[in-house]
Amino acid sequence: MNNILEVADLDVAYGKVQALSGVSLTVREGEIVSLLGNNGAGKSTTVATISGLVRAQRGTVTAFGRDITRATPWSIVEKGLIHVPEGRRIFSRLTVHENLLIGGYSIRDKALIDTRIRQVYDLLPRLADRRGQQGGTLSGGEQQMLAIGRAMIAGPQLLMLDEPTMGLAPLVVAQVMETITEINRAGASVLLIEQNARAALKVAHRGYVLDSGRVTLSGTAADLANDPQVVAAYLGK
Ligand code: ATP
Repeated sequence: MNNILEVADLDVAYGKVQALSGVSLTVREGEIVSLLGNNGAGKSTTVATISGLVRAQRGTVTAFGRDITRATPWSIVEKGLIHVPEGRRIFSRLTVHENLLIGGYSIRDKALIDTRIRQVYDLLPRLADRRGQQGGTLSGGEQQMLAIGRAMIAGPQLLMLDEPTMGLAPLVVAQVMETITEINRAGASVLLIEQNARAALKVAHRGYVLDSGRVTLSGTAADLANDPQVVAAYLGK
């Protein structure tokens, strides 16, 4: 399997706060890779660095064999690395359909945008039912689906989701995870940031555990789910 993403030895600091120290990880074609860890472990910083929003002091980010460590955020999006940040950030006064159209802002081919919007409506029929409704009136789970749907319009090769289940009820968490599995089956690789390790390890192929800015464990999702340290720290009773 080819590597879509290789992160090697990343150090990132915000002033005197060392957020990442020597973080390395890979995502291969076709995989869902989960990045687990508690609050402040460095998960969001890792994805923000991959997306070009935060600059590394040391280390490299390689996508499809090309060094993108110093690439601009928009050129990284053009390479098919699409980031859905924490907190959904949909446009609450725009309709569902208008929110999806914004996902295609960098695409000139209108027919391609229409095709992708149709694909999103097929994948997420609740969005199709609510296409004329304002984003802000959707439930939390629906807003998350809309944020993911909007990212799909950009045609991701790698979808990077930052805590997509935050604040959602268990049943809705399961629906979001099912959607992520379907997106992956349809061809996109996924880097899934989650504090909800139990839910993430059910759908992921592999995972990494971040603790205080360092990767402390990595392995297949099954190995991590059975690791006593992971069970004690993240899976609980
Ligand atoms: P969470 O789940 O709470 O978002 P996280 O694992 O994503 O946590 P990060 O948000 O990456 O963690 O934060 C890593 C460390 O960097 C933390 O100590 C955090 O306080 C610090 N940090 C993050 N963003 C900034 C910033 N803009 N300025 C200063 N420190 C920051």
